[in-house]
Amino acid sequence: MKAMRLVEWGKPLQLVELPLPEVADVDVLVKVTACGVCHSDLHLADGYYDLGEGERIRVQNRGVPLPLTLGHEVAGVIEARGPTVHGLDKGDAVLVYPWIGCGGCKACKTGNDNLCMTPRSIGVYRDGGYAEYLHVPHYKFLLPLEGLPSEDAAPLACSGVTAYSALKKTRIMSDATLVIEGVGGLGSMAIQLAETITGANVVAVDTDDAKLAYAKKLGADQTLNPLKTNLVDDVKTLTDGRGADAVIDFVGSSNTAEAAFNMLTRGGRMVSVGLFGGVLKIPIPFLPFRATEIIGNYTGSLGDLMELVSLAKRGVVKSIVSTSFRLTDANNALDTLRRGAIEGRAVLRP
Ligand SMILES: [Zn+2]
Ligand SMILES: [Zn+2]
Repeated sequence: MKAMRLVEWGKPLQLVELPLPEVADVDVLVKVTACGVCHSDLHLADGYYDLGEGERIRVQNRGVPLPLTLGHEVAGVIEARGPTVHGLDKGDAVLVYPWIGCGGCKACKTGNDNLCMTPRSIGVYRDGGYAEYLHVPHYKFLLPLEGLPSEDAAPLACSGVTAYSALKKTRIMSDATLVIEGVGGLGSMAIQLAETITGANVVAVDTDDAKLAYAKKLGADQTLNPLKTNLVDDVKTLTDGRGADAVIDFVGSSNTAEAAFNMLTRGGRMVSVGLFGGVLKIPIPFLPFRATEIIGNYTGSLGDLMELVSLAKRGVVKSIVSTSFRLTDANNALDTLRRGAIEGRAVLRP
C-alpha cells in the first residue's frame, strides 16, 4: 500500500510502498477514504513544540517514533477484520477514534484513553491515515458512519472532538458570553457547536478578516480582529464592563493566552487548547482575586466522539471541509495549511 511517511524531522514526507497490515483477534484494517490534515501534523513533521523563551520540547522525547505515517482524522471502510470483531462487517463505513491508550490503566478503563500516560494515538505514536490503509488495534475505536459522508466525518475525530470537549469544559449557558480565539479547523467547529448547543453569545477572534467573515457565516454573533482593536477593552464593552464568562484559546500563543486571561469576568473560565507555543505570565494574586479557572484540554474521549457523531448525523454540525488533496499531494496540503490558506479543514483522499 502507498503511504506518505515522515522519515526525517523537518523534512517533507516521503511516498513509500508498505506491506498491507495483517489483522488478528479484535483488530481491523480500514481502507482510508478521507484523512484530515491537522495543525498538529505540522508540529509532528517539524519535530518540536515551542515552549517559549527559546525552549522547545522535541516530539522525539515524547516517544514519537520515526518513520511515522501521519494522519489522525481518519474515515474509511472496513477492509478486513479479526475473528473476534463483533457488530462490524467488511464494507461498513466508519470513523476512527485515534486517541487510544494502553487499555489497562485507570484512565483507559474509565473511558479517558486520551489521557493515558502511555498513549498509542493513531498518527502520532503509531501509523496513521496518510495511507491507503490503516490498522486499528481494537474495533471498539470504530464508529459507524451510517450515511454521514466520510469527508465530512473525518475532522470530527480531532478538530471536532477537541472543540466539543473544550466547549463542555467552559460549562456555559445561553445567557453567557463565550469568546473563541482562532477561527481555524477547531474554532470553526466550536463556533457551530456553541451556537447550536449552548445558545450563548459567541464572539469570534482572529487576525484574518476572511476567517472572521467565515466565522459570521458559521453563526458567530460578533467578530473582533485584535490587529485593529484592543481585544480586552472590546470584550469588556460588548459585555457591559463585566468581561467574558469563558474563553477558548485555540491558538495558544503568549498573546492569545494573556488576552484570554484578562478578558474574563470574575469566576470566568479559560480553556487552553492551541499549541502555537509560548509562556503565560500571570501575577499570582490575580488568580484568587478574579477566581479564574484555567483549564487545559487535550482532544476528547471516545464518549465525546460518540456524542459528536450523533450530533453530526442530526445535522447539528455542518462540514468544515473546504479543500481536498490527493494523498500523494500531502506535502502541498501541509504547506498550504502552514501558510494559513485553508478555510476550515483540508482532507487527503487516497
Ligand atoms: Zn489534530
Ligand atoms: Zn492507559
